[in-house]
Amino acid sequence: MPHSQFPIPNFIMPYEKEKQVAIDAAIAAAKLCQQVRLDIPEAMEKSDKSPVTVADYGAQAVICKALGEAFPEDPVVGEEDATELRKPEMAETLSKVTHYIKGVLPDATPEEVVAWIDRGNGKVRSRYWTLDPIDGTKGFLRQDQYAVALALVEGGEVKLGVLACPAMPVEGAEPGMLYVAVRGEGASMAPLAGGEFRPIHVVAPDDKENLRFVESVESAHGDQAAQNAVAKAAGITAPSVRIDSQAKYGIVASGKAALYLRLPSPKKPDYRENIWDHAAGAIVVEEAGGRVTDMYGKPLNFAEGSKMVNNRGVVVSNGVIHDLVLTALRET
Ligand code: AMP
Ligand code: MG
Repeated sequence: MPHSQFPIPNFIMPYEKEKQVAIDAAIAAAKLCQQVRLDIPEAMEKSDKSPVTVADYGAQAVICKALGEAFPEDPVVGEEDATELRKPEMAETLSKVTHYIKGVLPDATPEEVVAWIDRGNGKVRSRYWTLDPIDGTKGFLRQDQYAVALALVEGGEVKLGVLACPAMPVEGAEPGMLYVAVRGEGASMAPLAGGEFRPIHVVAPDDKENLRFVESVESAHGDQAAQNAVAKAAGITAPSVRIDSQAKYGIVASGKAALYLRLPSPKKPDYRENIWDHAAGAIVVEEAGGRVTDMYGKPLNFAEGSKMVNNRGVVVSNGVIHDLVLTALRET
């Protein structure tokens, strides 16, 4: 990774320190996740019945530790917390989590690990970080796509996003891609294994080959029938590409698909999206030239709390086709 050896003053490149800390932390977390995955992880069930693994806990611990040291004043709104892990009957799981963390932080102790994880219990403030240590845990367990997603939000606007996608194919190299964006500075990607960052751009208007759309693998996380109908109405005839996690944002940002649709599941009409499932991906797409709104064209609201209570669904596009898609949504 091309990292600067010297701190760059904030008035020259705002968020430079934040960017470097976030990239290093996401790379360490991604490494931990891949190590867990080589050992075939087991899922545990959270109270909302969603799966969690030792890698979710480990990745959150590693990233919260790094943020806590570099930015002690900043709250982190993370997906996981250590309540379950602190229970005596979970001692074996906690020791597994600690074992994997030692792979990147050799001196870690179980007591430190639970404290690091719980640094992610912060609340939305004027400046905060939001973290999904493993977005797409179901994909992670299936040996498909997943992402470590970290974003910095200030005044309700995402300022920095880092998405590590350890299973993303890389031409001629081992899998793993890192997507990074800072507000006003564009978006770029680099192989997770190391190498230069290069700027990325959404699908150009005349690029018919990449005029495809992506949606979740999990049919319960959206409305695939409606998503397909809307895409068709907006002129996309190719079948959808189904991908887990915010890797979908990376695909749109790097010009491999023109649209990502996430419409509310008819089975869960009251579901509201989590900020950590979208913040990092959204800035990467916007800085790559695309547009991100909810299904009514409203901007995603990162200022109120961990749930986007006033948004429904998510529409992510290359910008050019966005209004067409919103119109199709109103009419289908
Ligand atoms: P994806 O891989 O795109 O399906 O995204 C995974 C994320 O979907 C998880 O992190 C969950 O927070 C989120 N999720 C869970 N249930 C739902 C639902 N009913 N509708 C939309 N998203 C959901
Ligand atoms: Mg998630």
